[in-house]
Amino acid sequence: MKPTLILINPWIYDFAAYDMWSKPLGLLYVAGFLRECGFDIQVVDCMDVHATGMKEFSSQAHPVRRLYGTGKFWRKEIPKPAPLAHINRTYSRYGIAKQLFIQKLLKIEDPSAILVTSLMTYWYPGVREAINLAKETYPGLPVILGGAYARLCKEHAVMSSCADCVVSEGTIHDQGPLLEALKQFGIYAPKGCHSVDGTPWPAFDLLRKLDYICIATSTGCPYRCHYCGSRFLNPTFTQRKPSEVIEEIRYWNEKFGIKDFAFYDDALLVDSGSHIKIVLNGLMESGLSLRFHTPNALHVREISQEIAGLLYRSGFRTIRLGLETADIGLHNDLDRKVSDGEFERAVRNLTNAGFDSRDIGSYILMGLPGQSVESVVNTLNFVADTGTSPYLAEYSPLPHTPLWQKAIACSNYDIAAEPLFHNNSLLPCWDEEKRLQVQELKRIVREIRTAC
Ligand code: SF4
Repeated sequence: MKPTLILINPWIYDFAAYDMWSKPLGLLYVAGFLRECGFDIQVVDCMDVHATGMKEFSSQAHPVRRLYGTGKFWRKEIPKPAPLAHINRTYSRYGIAKQLFIQKLLKIEDPSAILVTSLMTYWYPGVREAINLAKETYPGLPVILGGAYARLCKEHAVMSSCADCVVSEGTIHDQGPLLEALKQFGIYAPKGCHSVDGTPWPAFDLLRKLDYICIATSTGCPYRCHYCGSRFLNPTFTQRKPSEVIEEIRYWNEKFGIKDFAFYDDALLVDSGSHIKIVLNGLMESGLSLRFHTPNALHVREISQEIAGLLYRSGFRTIRLGLETADIGLHNDLDRKVSDGEFERAVRNLTNAGFDSRDIGSYILMGLPGQSVESVVNTLNFVADTGTSPYLAEYSPLPHTPLWQKAIACSNYDIAAEPLFHNNSLLPCWDEEKRLQVQELKRIVREIRTAC
């Protein structure tokens, strides 16, 4: 009999959370790989918005779902952890009821180990809760933790997560560290990992109901933005073969009827001639009617007239541009990804191609160390002039990024010791005077969107 592994996508514990094509892609890649190695894989998704059985444990109405598979999560208000007690906002556990989680675990017969993923560093209370409940349900079963929190805050995860083993290395193309961790507990791949050819597709079919699929056509990013963890998490930028991406998208469409695809790439449009142009042209030739979304921002520099036309014709519906700031000096210091005039040119190309400027979202970073409120206001005004919709993205300080030491130096919070203080809702690298002006910034955003 194949050894069974339980893979858990834990809860989000936060002040706010919204399903913008949120799926545990890394965990599903692990699931696909381990299945090819011969394991029986059972996924328990705490964030399953379609979970049946919630009525038994919760009086909540089904979470409201919106366009293209986005929407709200199940939510239960819970007490704030002590370090966040001073924040005057509601704190919640997003995801299914704890009792349902335990029920799902108990239905799995004779598991050999439990693997838990993690994402944002400040969501670790949800990770710890999942691990503790899994250990109570299956005492003595090894629990292995991986994912972004485990990698970015390894020491904290070792001390605080309650996992038996923390895997802080490896990528979706290299699952060697995870296999080594399993071996420590006497668990070996039935077929051996050498039987696996390339990187198997993420095992979305193990989720209960699919509204959309998340696709990564590449890993890593050639840019080196000082505030971003992409380089640490995926040091090398690699693009998949276009033919393989086309094959995967066609598979999910033909077998599961999926029409909405969210690209998870950090750099979707880079080297477009040998990559995304081939993918999109290939998909158009196959005559499929698909919708594409880019919750991760697109690089404005890469949006030529030709690319804009291709995005429009191939079915891109949700376009998000990584502007971050209109302050070119700040760009030169922090990311070098937007030069003078490039944003306006990208918007012009997109609107010439047929996109309505109101449907183009521009991400604006707020709360960077040393950034003034005035700089954010100037950026908002700049975006308003282009007719696109501004989206404020609060800066979350990340260990192992070039900006980390500066973030520690300017934060009133002990972000080095407590990942809960990385929470972007706190704007941990702004002082109180700046934080008090955030409501006004949000008001300006609403005003611009209404005027669009
Ligand atoms: S371009 Fe985006 S993904 Fe790449 S390093 Fe910068 S912020 Fe990160």
